[in-house]
Amino acid sequence: MSHPFLARLPKEVDLLEAIAAEFKSRNMPKAAFTLIGAVYHPVVGYYDAVSREYYNKEFEGLWEVASCMGNVSERDGDLFIHAHVVLSDHSYACVGGHLMPGTEIFAAELSASPTPGETPVRKFDEATGLYLWA
Ligand code: ZN
Repeated sequence: MSHPFLARLPKEVDLLEAIAAEFKSRNMPKAAFTLIGAVYHPVVGYYDAVSREYYNKEFEGLWEVASCMGNVSERDGDLFIHAHVVLSDHSYACVGGHLMPGTEIFAAELSASPTPGETPVRKFDEATGLYLWA
């Protein structure tokens, strides 16, 4: 039986990989989570619905993770993390979007809750070009 948990994630590890590792180690394939902390050179994506591509942008330096929320489900037989972030810089200005690989942890606190029922499975959705819950 799975329970909600809190975890501090390791410094200088890819944020998405570190989040996935926490759920894999607990055998928790479906969950909702929030995270706060700070990251180096975050990479944020924006999905363009016309080209059906993510446009990624890397931001230099250290950023506060003012907010990060996401979920855990299944895609292609593997555990998949979907997360969005709002990041703030030294002038307190914010950027945000879809969290991409390449974002390195300075400090991160994960708060997660397993969700009941079947594990949602992501399938390609022709209408959006995204992998959405079937
Ligand atoms: Zn997204």
